[in-house]
Amino acid sequence: MKPASFEYFSPTTISEALDLLSQFGTTARALAGGQSLVPMMNFRLARPSHLIDLNRIPELSYVTVENGELRIGAMTRQREIERSAAVLEGWPLLKEATGYIGHVQIRNRGTVGGSLAHAYPASELPVAMCALDAVFVLRSQRGERLLKARELFVGPMTTVLEPEELLIEIRVPPLPARTGWAFQEISRRFGDFALMAVACLLTLDGAGAIQKASLAFTDSTPVRPESAEQRLVGKRPDRDLFSEVGRLAAAALNPDTDVHASAEYRREIAGVLARRALQQAAERAASFT
Ligand SMILES: Cc1cc2nc3c(=O)[nH]c(=O)nc-3n(C[C@H](O)[C@H](O)[C@H](O)COP(=O)(O)OP(=O)(O)OC[C@H]3O[C@@H](n4cnc5c(N)ncnc54)[C@H](O)[C@@H]3O)c2cc1C
Repeated sequence: MKPASFEYFSPTTISEALDLLSQFGTTARALAGGQSLVPMMNFRLARPSHLIDLNRIPELSYVTVENGELRIGAMTRQREIERSAAVLEGWPLLKEATGYIGHVQIRNRGTVGGSLAHAYPASELPVAMCALDAVFVLRSQRGERLLKARELFVGPMTTVLEPEELLIEIRVPPLPARTGWAFQEISRRFGDFALMAVACLLTLDGAGAIQKASLAFTDSTPVRPESAEQRLVGKRPDRDLFSEVGRLAAAALNPDTDVHASAEYRREIAGVLARRALQQAAERAASFT
């Protein structure tokens, strides 16, 4: 299939891109890495009349650390995150999660912002950003707004982004001392989309008890089962506790049945993955003490 005809624009600044999005409204679409949008256009599942290419806007591509916070420009390629020394040192969960996205060719082209804006339910970056309590910077000609990661996603491939709005930057707060991490995923073959994935962070206090826990799962939209997280706080890391919390977290999910797996199977592996992730995160956290 070939895409329906469209007019192509190649702005070189954010402000030019926002002008174009404001001018064309719902008939326009931003083009990032094109790894999801172009196939959708070829299948005519997306038919934008105006394509606003963000690839020639250098101010959208960077990885920096400011006041201890990680800042990622929306057009940063996924592979850059995977190879960034700053990410490895301060936010290893992000590196680990990114390594599960498709294959290296996809990550060379696909962008961090594109993956988040696309909001595909089985995607790794949305759950990693939710576990990390990231903040997203959205901008339009009308101004800028900051959203907590979980506020962006409202359903499968649906976000609160307005047609004239761009995701500009992702801000990830620093991790507390003695925080371990883990990203666990099951897919049919290496590089396939996840049947289920979980991102996990666990912070231990000086006495070795759990001070803070984050668990985020791929579901129709990323889910953080708070009662499961709270069950961990104040307790010492323990395999039985992790199994119990895994079951509790899995019960809070509402996975789909599709050609790849049933909802029951997805819920079952969510519990197993959560237990494994908690165990691994606890071991990593303990190695800092
Ligand atoms: C074979 C294959 C395997 C893949 N496997 C995986 C996988 O395992 N896990 C995974 O997570 N992904 C996977 N992907 C998808 C890949 O990660 C894409 O890169 C990602 O989903 C979209 O990013 P992109 O930069 O290509 O965005 P595009 O395809 O260019 O855009 C996607 C959507 O986001 C919008 N958009 C892009 N940037 C912005 C912005 N800054 N502000 C507002 N809207 C924006 C676009 O308008 C479009 O609607 C795979 C893709 C392929 C082709």
